Amino acid sequence: LFVTFEGGEGAGKSTQMRLLADSLRARGHDVLTTREPGGSTGAEAVRHVLLSGAAEAYGVRMEAILFAAARSDHVEQVIRPALERGTIVLCDRFMDSSRVYQGITGNLEQGFMETLERVAVNGVIPDRTIIFDLPAVIGLERARRRAADERPDRFEKEQLETHEKRREAFLDIAEADPERCSVVDATRPVDEIAAEVLSLVEALLPR
Ligand code: C5P
Repeated sequence: LFVTFEGGEGAGKSTQMRLLADSLRARGHDVLTTREPGGSTGAEAVRHVLLSGAAEAYGVRMEAILFAAARSDHVEQVIRPALERGTIVLCDRFMDSSRVYQGITGNLEQGFMETLERVAVNGVIPDRTIIFDLPAVIGLERARRRAADERPDRFEKEQLETHEKRREAFLDIAEADPERCSVVDATRPVDEIAAEVLSLVEALLPR
């Protein structure tokens, strides 16, 4: 079972993924948690280039290809082998982040993005994608508070308008693919969201 966690900054994806992993492990499941960009040795090297801002100088097309290269390595080295062993794989961001960040707000043409996605995922499509939805102002505020403690990366310095556009794009993805995607209201308390996420995923597990 392959589950991905998507949404804008400050939506609580990472916290929810950790809570879900704990709950599933407590129920005896074998769980692997991973994240993008990164998650494999090759992809972590690319992550470093992407988040440092070094790729910015080369433009969004190069950046999109780097994200795809990282995803391909991550899929082939980590995700596919884990799924083949029967492990539940939880991934913090995956192909939908590329559709939204590079495709929509990066203004790259759809055919190019679809080709990159197909090559990168190579048949490994999430069984379920949970989209954490919240107004951009709230997400940005949360991300800013966090950035005060951690190293702020260049991706979080963008405008509210851009974040609102991304929110809409994630919701459009969910609407277009309701079989795969579930939208979760991320403004609610953490434990309430965690319970919803757990029940969404438990429904997919064999009894
Ligand atoms: O998950 P997290 O928010 O920590 O992701 C790190 C950053 O990478 C984000 O701020 C996001 O803007 C950026 N990103 C991106 N394109 C992707 C995945 C992540 O621009 N495909």
